[in-house]
Amino acid sequence: MKLNTIYGKKTVISFEIFPPKHGAALQNIDETLEILCSLKPAFISVTFGAGGSTVNSKTVEIAKKIKEVYRVEPVVHLSCLNYTRSEILAMLEELREAGIENILALRGDRNPDVTPREDFHYASDLIRFIREQTGDEFNISAACYPETHPEAVSREQDIIHLKEKVDNGASHLISQLFFDNASFYQFLGEVRGAGITVPVEAGIMPVTNKAQIERMVNMCGATLPEKYRKIMDRYENSKDALFDAGVIYALNQVVDLIANGVDGVHLYTMNNPVLAKRICEEIKNLI
Ligand code: FAD
Repeated sequence: MKLNTIYGKKTVISFEIFPPKHGAALQNIDETLEILCSLKPAFISVTFGAGGSTVNSKTVEIAKKIKEVYRVEPVVHLSCLNYTRSEILAMLEELREAGIENILALRGDRNPDVTPREDFHYASDLIRFIREQTGDEFNISAACYPETHPEAVSREQDIIHLKEKVDNGASHLISQLFFDNASFYQFLGEVRGAGITVPVEAGIMPVTNKAQIERMVNMCGATLPEKYRKIMDRYENSKDALFDAGVIYALNQVVDLIANGVDGVHLYTMNNPVLAKRICEEIKNLI
């Protein structure tokens, strides 16, 4: 099922996971998928080479399992910065063979140890290429940044380039994580003002670990509101309390987003099914 058919009256809830590389996380992936899929998200997206990694071997395998075993729609992230056109064509063929219909097309994180190839500079190049090569075979989504992409020349330019992604064929946008809904609503206003009409999902990451959030904030440039910082400082040494506080904070964001009628909420689950389950149970009557 292509994602462009799922948006409408109700706020869509979707998840994001990453392919575990080794150890217990890899062994537990089936259990993680089983719980996440039982929550019946509209789709589960699987990252690809996040953080600039060039090891992507499990992305398609996991996406295929989500579709064939658990009957949930998968979205495969596909980044382009470190690949040639022929490598991307080979990956599209692999997706075709795996029965994948939905791609989140990205430029990709920069890896300081890898010199980018010259075939693709921006996600919009990848989107155009996929459309040219495969027509409407795949539904294409793209990323957006409520607090502006860290490398953007300006907020206005970032939105102009976002529109290029949509004009080239992206039918749906998923936002970077943010902790202050006001920043998302302001961004949405600017996006609509720029003539971008496709559904925009709000990216929410329930954070339950201080080191993790500091890493994420550094990487993606999200602003940490003072009230969030206070929660982390107060509970950083109490794992259970920080978990509860992180879930409650995210829940407040999600309830507000649903009440404001957003197209979708994309939960960055960090492969933690307990977290996703708790949030889904709390909002089941809202959607
Ligand atoms: P682009 O849309 O290409 O934008 C990158 C920068 O270039 C922006 O500053 C933009 O303003 C600028 N720009 C765009 N077009 C032009 C132009 N024509 N001229 C000048 N400047 C331009 N990374 C991974 O590696 N793997 C993943 O699985 C992954 N999943 C993600 C999922 C989501 C929902 C999000 C929000 C991000 C994800 N990322 C992932 C991170 C992403 O790859 C990085 O944020 C990356 O730095 C930008 O990717 P993009 O596709 O948004 O880039």
